[in-house]
Amino acid sequence: MRVLVVEDEPDLRQSLMQSLREDGYAVDGSDNGADGLFKATSWEYDAIVLDWMLPGLSGLELLEQLRREKPTPVLMLTARDAIQDRVTGLDGGADDYLVKPFSLGELLARVRALIRRSMGQSSNQIVIGDVTVDLAGRVVLRGGEPTSLTAREYALVELLALHRGKLVTRTMIYDHLFDEEDDSLSNLVDVHVSHIRKKLGRDFIETRRGQGYILSD
Ligand code: CA
Repeated sequence: MRVLVVEDEPDLRQSLMQSLREDGYAVDGSDNGADGLFKATSWEYDAIVLDWMLPGLSGLELLEQLRREKPTPVLMLTARDAIQDRVTGLDGGADDYLVKPFSLGELLARVRALIRRSMGQSSNQIVIGDVTVDLAGRVVLRGGEPTSLTAREYALVELLALHRGKLVTRTMIYDHLFDEEDDSLSNLVDVHVSHIRKKLGRDFIETRRGQGYILSD
């Protein structure tokens, strides 16, 4: 899953991006509203963490322009804990908000929940045969035992599991799993699929030649 962080305070932006990366997300960053809007409308993000007070275009203005084009889930960050601000943000198209200062753990939980809900997934667990994908713990169990997937392998399994029964194209994988800073070597999807099959079973991921991959429902 790929997340955009639009936040002009460098330290906070870096710590948010690092925490999200450590949780296995592909993450892009932006330090102003105009660039954030450009990225938000140009790429397929699974969620956007959007600061309200930004130079140039405000977070709320960015959100209003984004909503004319895309329903990407948005978590607004605000320094002001006023009810009217929350109402304005939610009415402006935000899906959730957090008041600064907040804990990184809570932000990560809210991002997970936003993405899960946007995919129509109400439960935190997806069971496919003897494999369980635990979206909250970000682990995959096989036969009840935790498996040793890398963060990138987990992200690919999660993407396939959230689309189970449907074709996931290579383009979707590139759009949702890799960010601007990824080098080409880490982008070898076939290698990740091969490693996942060794850990979760040969038949776990089905290849549709020339199209992509699918997890049976
Ligand atoms: Ca700010």
